[in-house]
Amino acid sequence: MQVIRTVAELRRWSRAAKQAGKIVGLVPTMGALHEGHISLMRAAKAQCGAVIASIFVNPTQFGPNEDFSKYPRTWDADSALLEAEGVDVIFAPTPEEMYPAGAVTFVEVAGLSERLDGASRPGHFRGVATVVAKLFAAADPDRAYFGQKDAAQVAVLRRMVADLYLPVELVVCPIVREPDGLAMSSRNRYLSPEERRQALVLSRALDAVRLAVSGGESSAVALIAIAHAAFASEPAVRVDYVVAVDWGTLLPVEQVAEGALFAVAAYVGTTRLIDNWIIG
Ligand code: AMP
Repeated sequence: MQVIRTVAELRRWSRAAKQAGKIVGLVPTMGALHEGHISLMRAAKAQCGAVIASIFVNPTQFGPNEDFSKYPRTWDADSALLEAEGVDVIFAPTPEEMYPAGAVTFVEVAGLSERLDGASRPGHFRGVATVVAKLFAAADPDRAYFGQKDAAQVAVLRRMVADLYLPVELVVCPIVREPDGLAMSSRNRYLSPEERRQALVLSRALDAVRLAVSGGESSAVALIAIAHAAFASEPAVRVDYVVAVDWGTLLPVEQVAEGALFAVAAYVGTTRLIDNWIIG
């Protein structure tokens, strides 16, 4: 496994892999890797002859009062995991490499970027779209792998790829959960034991919604009320949003149907967690 730190070298590596007839897969991450990330690496390994994992804690997707500086950085464990998974390259640029002095170009996916997490985290999706566009330009992947865990991010990136005719196929992988249902997240390590218990209310709320849908309920208002009722069982958890939206536009739906996105976000202590269910 090679560690590459510059865009120029990554470009050379990707071009050589393609010239050797390989399909290039890219898995963008911010490190602090867990089984959710690993599932993306495995999907990429299964479908691509050359796999690049990027590890970059992207400053532009964090708000001024968010956890950029304390975001977990676990290089030794991450690189050992990626080596064990047979990843070919870790792309680990510095912030200066990704945002050289004078850089002023950003990717704005208008509308979508202001919905869901974009509403509570102004500028977040602008940072995400920009860094992913840069990673695509640097790695030139045939396929790029993302988790359904960040479903709104997937919607933003799909729109960006379509709008900019980017020659990359997005592959979306299922949410990997802890045995008790909590969606895996690098931020779970911030939780105290008591908060870790409280955090289960996110997946419990989605379970209640799933149960109601399987019982024939399709009214978004009713399903959102069911989720809020579940959240009420953990008063210490502060709900950020509970929404039923079209997964393409992230606009609210009145009736949920196959393919709609039911998503929740909540603060457990100071940690913001998200989870979702794609209906059907
Ligand atoms: P992050 O390092 O948090 O930026 O995540 C990198 C990628 O891993 C994103 O595409 C996430 O959606 C994905 N991911 C994070 N957590 C999970 C999970 N529990 N299951 C599946 N994919 C995940």
